Amino acid sequence: MASALAHYPHFYNSATAPRGRPIVDPGRISKPAAAPDGSKPNKLRRQSQADHFALNRALSAFVDSGSLENAVHLFENMPRSDAYSWNVLIRGFVNNGLVREAIELYRRMGREGIRADNYTYPFVVKACGGLLALMEGEKVHAKLFKVGLDLDLYVGNSLISMYAENGRADLAEKVFREMGARDVVSWNSMISGFLSVGDGWSSFALLREMQVYGMRPDRYSLISALGAASLESYLQSGKEIHCWAIRSGLESDLMVETSLVDMYCKCGKVDYAERLFDSASKENIVIWNAMIDGYASNALPSESLACVKCMQDDCNLNPDSITMINLLPACAQLGSLRVGKSVHGQSVRKGFFPNMVLETALINMYGASGGLKEAKYLFGKMAEKSLISWNAIIAAHVQNGQNEAALGLFQKLWCEPLEPDAITIASVLPAFAEVALLREGRPIHAYALKLGLGSNIYISNSIIYMYAKCGDLGTAQQIFDKTLIKDVVSWNVIIMAYAIHGCGGKSIALFKEMKKYGVEPNASTFFSLLMSCSISGLADEGWGYFNQMRGSYNIDPGIEHYGCVLDLIGRTGNLDRAREFVAQMPLVPNARIWGSLLTASRKHGNIEMAEYAAKHILSLEHDNTGCCILLSNMYADAGRWEDFERIKSIMKKEGIKKTVGYSMMESRGKIYSFTNYDKCCQHASMIYGVLDIVSKWVGVNIHPTRVTRFRPLDLAKERAKSPATHSVRLAISFGLVSTAIGNPILIRQNTRICEDCHSAAKKISDLSCREIIVVDVKVVHHFRDRCCSCNDYW
Ligand SMILES: [Zn+2]
Ligand SMILES: [Zn+2]
Repeated sequence: MASALAHYPHFYNSATAPRGRPIVDPGRISKPAAAPDGSKPNKLRRQSQADHFALNRALSAFVDSGSLENAVHLFENMPRSDAYSWNVLIRGFVNNGLVREAIELYRRMGREGIRADNYTYPFVVKACGGLLALMEGEKVHAKLFKVGLDLDLYVGNSLISMYAENGRADLAEKVFREMGARDVVSWNSMISGFLSVGDGWSSFALLREMQVYGMRPDRYSLISALGAASLESYLQSGKEIHCWAIRSGLESDLMVETSLVDMYCKCGKVDYAERLFDSASKENIVIWNAMIDGYASNALPSESLACVKCMQDDCNLNPDSITMINLLPACAQLGSLRVGKSVHGQSVRKGFFPNMVLETALINMYGASGGLKEAKYLFGKMAEKSLISWNAIIAAHVQNGQNEAALGLFQKLWCEPLEPDAITIASVLPAFAEVALLREGRPIHAYALKLGLGSNIYISNSIIYMYAKCGDLGTAQQIFDKTLIKDVVSWNVIIMAYAIHGCGGKSIALFKEMKKYGVEPNASTFFSLLMSCSISGLADEGWGYFNQMRGSYNIDPGIEHYGCVLDLIGRTGNLDRAREFVAQMPLVPNARIWGSLLTASRKHGNIEMAEYAAKHILSLEHDNTGCCILLSNMYADAGRWEDFERIKSIMKKEGIKKTVGYSMMESRGKIYSFTNYDKCCQHASMIYGVLDIVSKWVGVNIHPTRVTRFRPLDLAKERAKSPATHSVRLAISFGLVSTAIGNPILIRQNTRICEDCHSAAKKISDLSCREIIVVDVKVVHHFRDRCCSCNDYW
């Protein structure tokens, strides 16, 4: 027994190992007694032969009944073994998912001089497929070629599946084409092989070819082909297969029926699916699960939930883990954390955990419903994580504005034995756009190209936006120009790119070009345009587009469009008009709207209006850091220290902490990061030396409002933290000496740039004859010749 344990440690750790009383007591198995002269008498030999058959039969019985532990025990104690015994145990391992053990046993078989045969190989090949061990599989294939077993039908079929499982449909097809004889399993393996690598069209073509060769598709062929039609959302093929199903009398086969429901839902024909579902027998949960998933994937979340209820109430069926997995996207669409949590709770009560797919679906749901805390907790507790789980947690962070954490996770993912894929890149690109430097962004672009995603329109749009947000508008434009097929999103992205860089005129020109190309603008196009008009202060144009939206394009403005127009009004300083605009909005104002009014009040020094806006913001979001800081600064500037203290105590009570402001820049291939008042940064003495000179240029007391008569001593200390050593100025000082003369200095900041630093940067850009680009959380400031591209409103 000890030796068996040493050979199969994984097996014995596995929860799947059934434990029970052995049917055969291994203690009673004794080695055949040898005759005193060393030769076995005939009778004894016959006896030993009979014993051997009996033991093999017992071994087979153990394996068939799932008592693998007993089987191993018996096997290890058998006086002798033949290929049959080894095959039985290898088959047992493979059928119980212990593929690693199966391969190990196959290797041991070779070491002990037992020849593998055509019964061994199909299982060994299957094990290689299950383990995703392509190299091992190829080795076995080479061996098969050597012993002339590669043309064997069963072996060939298992090779097709092995290559397909390893994602190599090309190699699978090579085996398939070279096979001497093919049965329906060969065809089905290849059809589902194409499907498994996401090539629905080849799968479908093979189904047709199969019939040309006179092969009759069975239920498995039809199910795979329906999967192919679903994958490509190709309704016409789906209907064609539906007809075959009817002709071959397989229409009422439960699995075929379920696949049909699934196919019609994937092709967006929920009504067809419903009709089939209504007439189907509903005793089995799989068809319910298909319908629940169908509703959710067609953005009908309430119907999905109702379907689950109906299944429980009318048919007395209990939801299984698949039901939960299919239902969770519906919860996410409803955006109701409460419903999502109740599904989670039910899954816990029903004992569905651990279940990697379910846990990942929960992370997706929590991410989309604002439950990042729950998502993180769940991810942390997962025993096993796939790439899909990683993608889900990265996306959850991005969706909830935790971009830096998302980048941190992406970094960690590289330490795992997993390779980021298209979904990972798509999930993480927005985080790069929000917080990364060009130096960090460029490699992700290169990686996307390496994965062959250059022509993926979703990815390339995200990359265009990333370059623009990282301050490199030129590269953004280049990639846009090279994009052969531009969809409406591509245009929206490039219009937005120019918007955040304060190039309103260019945005408008692009909008006109887009219409010339016949691309129909949507709500997001107008958001980009209005944003551009508001950043560049193009009031007339902004109002014009706002009116055009409804008038010419029949698009109802959303809250984000109102926000842009409000910014436009705010710029003019007519705060009463701004307040009136908010009051007349047909939509309920959110924190973004009130934030816009607050910004305008701050710009124009109207404390009453600021208080009015802040009151609304805090009633919607108790912990809005930006709002508290802005208001407290306004009080401090006005010398209203009691109010200032009041806000501070609210912040303390709500646990609101000021975001630690920092600025990043890149020089000679290295990334430098500075925090406010940072005295310990790299090259500190040099930077402070430059800063001294710069401060003399800039002068102090840019903001006379900062001087107040009533400043108490302790607050004076608080306020004494001079903006002269704000992180952005440290970065600019470093940039002046660490980059070549004449080159622009590019800085990324995680907060909005303050008034003082904004006007300082304008002066520095003039006196140093340099362009200074500061990417803050909202806009990109291009400081040039004492001016900023944002026209001093941000
Ligand atoms: Zn500052
Ligand atoms: Zn600016």
